[in-house]
Amino acid sequence: MTITEISRLIEDRVHSSRMLGSNKSLVLHGGGNTSVKVKERNLVGEEEDILYVKGSGWDLETITADGFSPVRLDHLKKMAGLERLTDSEMLNEMVTHQTRATAPAPSVEAVLHAIIPYRYVDHTHADAVVAISNSVNGDELLREIYGDTVMYVPYIMPGFDLSRLCAVLFEKEPLAGKKGIILLHHGVFTYGDTAGESYDRMIELVDKAEQYLAKRRASAEPVKITERTSVTPLDLCIFRKQISAAAGFPVIIKRATDNKSMDFCNREDVTIISQQGPATPDHVIRTKRLPLVGRDIDKFVNAYKNYFAQHALTARNPISMLDPAPRVALDPCFGVCAIGKTVKDANIIADIYEHTIDIILSATSLGGYSALPAKDIFDVEYWELEQAKLKKGNAAPPFTGEIALVTGAASGIGKACVFSLLARGATVIGVDINPSVKDISANAAYHGIVTDLTSDDGIKIAADQAVLLFGGLDMLVLNAGMFPESKTVAELDYEKWQRVLQLNLDVNFRLLQNAYPYLKNAPKGGRVVIVGSKNVAAPGPGASAYSVSKAALNQLARVAAMEWGKDGIRINSVHPNAVFDTGIWTEEILRARAQHYGLTVDEYKKNNILKTEIKSSDVGELVAELCGAIFSKTTGAQVPIDGGNDRVI
Ligand code: ZN
Repeated sequence: MTITEISRLIEDRVHSSRMLGSNKSLVLHGGGNTSVKVKERNLVGEEEDILYVKGSGWDLETITADGFSPVRLDHLKKMAGLERLTDSEMLNEMVTHQTRATAPAPSVEAVLHAIIPYRYVDHTHADAVVAISNSVNGDELLREIYGDTVMYVPYIMPGFDLSRLCAVLFEKEPLAGKKGIILLHHGVFTYGDTAGESYDRMIELVDKAEQYLAKRRASAEPVKITERTSVTPLDLCIFRKQISAAAGFPVIIKRATDNKSMDFCNREDVTIISQQGPATPDHVIRTKRLPLVGRDIDKFVNAYKNYFAQHALTARNPISMLDPAPRVALDPCFGVCAIGKTVKDANIIADIYEHTIDIILSATSLGGYSALPAKDIFDVEYWELEQAKLKKGNAAPPFTGEIALVTGAASGIGKACVFSLLARGATVIGVDINPSVKDISANAAYHGIVTDLTSDDGIKIAADQAVLLFGGLDMLVLNAGMFPESKTVAELDYEKWQRVLQLNLDVNFRLLQNAYPYLKNAPKGGRVVIVGSKNVAAPGPGASAYSVSKAALNQLARVAAMEWGKDGIRINSVHPNAVFDTGIWTEEILRARAQHYGLTVDEYKKNNILKTEIKSSDVGELVAELCGAIFSKTTGAQVPIDGGNDRVI
């Protein structure tokens, strides 16, 4: 084949892989895999058969040509004939027979792709097919739907075992004339001479299953909707603290509270239908085998330990237990809770479980949902290669799983604090009256809330939303404030004085009060950072309201530090000065101020002992560090960030 022919084949492969990947009812988050076989000339001029197969870690929805691993086809075919092969041996053989050193490790199903004698091969975990397969008489129903147009393969551990079994079956019963392979309790394979043929067969097979389900589900009884109770944020916070303790790290909880999710959590039979197992074994890595129903975390942890103890005895290799915390919780009040280390993880779990609910309900309408036995799921959960990933360890950023709230986040120091916290792995909620707070970051771990903190509602919304959105509150950065125009004490009108004290002091007092019960339940201890001012130590004329409000806020922080130390909450203040890269300081104002002091703008910006410019980002970094390990034994402290000021020193 010419290089152009090969790249056209791969292009087609990428295109239809993405089409499969974009259909969430076929594959979810890294699930499924595809391949194409080509003839390629190597460096010494020999023509070789090469299997381009999806690399692990790539998602079909976003895969590019680089995501496919080129592996020598003949060697893969020979591997299918071996008596036994451990996972690490299989991986070693695949990786050492790649023709591109920088390629990702091939999918664990590469050997099966190799032995299917068609150019294109597609594999999905289509919802409709697994729903039918996981119903009480699934095998018979599938035969009723597909007859002898497909090959049926009984469930066996994915990877080498599955490939070996298929190699034996293909000898007895050729694939020619069949449209695909149904892997019971697992998924579907299709194949074809063109990418389109394989894709069309996948859609055709899945369509048949979907039509069958639609017919049966239409006659199923509707679910009784029970009345909803509203969520108390503190209950959710305590729930998160307990799960975090079981996991050994702080977790994010994303809740689904749409009608379907709430109905599922409130079904009378939820403790039965949700306790059968995942829809396809692959999902166990994300969701664990079973969700927690209700809030008894100790009971869940004990059951998980028993499950591990029971199956570890017959495991293929020595294994160590994963953390025993649930990844999905079904609560009649909280809804479907997806529990992850990060927002991204939680979102993936939420997606998988949303599809799992559909599958369970479909299978229930067919007479009952019945997943694979626990032992089969355990084998995938404790797969050797998965264990290897764990052993590599992960250098997660320090605030992974923790939730921070920053006030006045739309610009300046507040915005900088958001970025410094996000960079350390925190999930961040930015609050501001300015609507642009919604758009300061596209990171999934960021959420902006537009609210007026001087209203009763605003304060409640700010504190409660962090908990309702992500499960808790670990860090609070009190930054919102105002700096009014210069007025002497004699000139300043009382109303203005009150407004400054309300925003700079009262709002923060109330936020602290509202956040206290949540901070008290932070898994690693609550932290508060107050953005004060140089004016606390060194006030200036014309800034009475501002200086007084910041000094009073500082005093409030010191008292709270003394009162809340017993709850593990640390409260520290930073005192910035002369931070000019904020919205208030235009070039014009800067020039005028500099002129007033007989300085150039640059001299004016660096008018401090260190002759250095202080930027918002410098303050953001200090605020984030104060929440971190270096300051874990510091509370009630005040740290200037002003380049050194002789009046403060
Ligand atoms: Zn699979």
